[in-house]
Amino acid sequence: MTDIKSLALSELKDEMAAMGEKAFRAEQLYGWMHRKLAVSYEEMTNLPKALADRCRQRYEYTVLKPILVQESAIDGTRKYLFGLADGNAVESVLMRYKHGNCVCVSSQVGCRMGCRFCASTLDGLERNLRPSEMLDQVYAIMRHTGERVSNVVVMGSGEPLDNYDNLLRFIELLTDENGLHISQRNVTVSTCGLVPEMRRLADRKLQITPALSLHAATDEKRRALMPIAERYPLEELMEACAYYFEQTGRRITFEYSLVKGVNDSEEDAGKLASLIGRLNCHVNLIPVNPIRERGYRQSDRRAVEAFRNRLQNRGINVTVRREMGRDIDGACGQLRRRYRKET
Ligand code: SAH
Repeated sequence: MTDIKSLALSELKDEMAAMGEKAFRAEQLYGWMHRKLAVSYEEMTNLPKALADRCRQRYEYTVLKPILVQESAIDGTRKYLFGLADGNAVESVLMRYKHGNCVCVSSQVGCRMGCRFCASTLDGLERNLRPSEMLDQVYAIMRHTGERVSNVVVMGSGEPLDNYDNLLRFIELLTDENGLHISQRNVTVSTCGLVPEMRRLADRKLQITPALSLHAATDEKRRALMPIAERYPLEELMEACAYYFEQTGRRITFEYSLVKGVNDSEEDAGKLASLIGRLNCHVNLIPVNPIRERGYRQSDRRAVEAFRNRLQNRGINVTVRREMGRDIDGACGQLRRRYRKET
């Protein structure tokens, strides 16, 4: 069955035409789904019942059910675990900032990239999420809080560029003026570095904000943390980053999780500065969020400071990311994993 919430408005218009319905019905339906965030046809009060019945027979209408909501006592961050129609579960995070609410969405159920420090990948990839299922994470959180969401980061479980077509449709619908109309600049997509897809995405010239999970400044160290580094060496990756900037004019954020004794020395910082120094970029340092299954530990506060200073002295924009939701299994894949183990 066609997934109605993943259709673009133009496609929905074609569907309505094929059903012999008037074109404005497509706009009505689309508005109910993507602006008013309806969870069923019953809510669509100006839609004739006969049409609702036909749609119900013809299309699948995705909705996410909150299974668990955890709120951090430290910073108010909320972590949601949502149930999908097929019994799988995904997690999303709501972060409240002064400048607005930000939702971190998952792009896949599980992940197959195998990064050593990440909980999402421990059980491998279950399946890709559909555009509607990514949107629903944002929609369900807006409904639950009654508050608008102004920023979306695709930094939850999964590798977004490993689910390329669905990701692009998700961005199209999320930023569409007939939907929530979130600005492309307020949508961040984070990748572990799938070079061909990064180049493909660059060619689309979207104004979204790119983020690259770097985590190491040499191939040897990166391979020890991220299996994807076996496939794409840093030289190719840096060329792809430069290409991305050339095509889009959008500055890249490099994410670098600091792991004690692994990638956090001042020498590492120096190598990082040399690697990225020529790019128009920003570095986000994240103290690694330890997961039970792996032995990695967080860098000391002093090591973090020294690392940051070294980058700053080399003229690189750098911030240390405020850790949010530490007390609620905030890091990628932790909550879903705990839930799966308990049930
Ligand atoms: N697959 C994408 C997006 C999901 S992960 C990517 O790799 O970018 C979002 C970010 O969180 C990535 O930078 C990832 O490397 C990082 N991350 C995952 N687990 C972490 C942990 N336990 N501690 C700190 N950062 C982590």
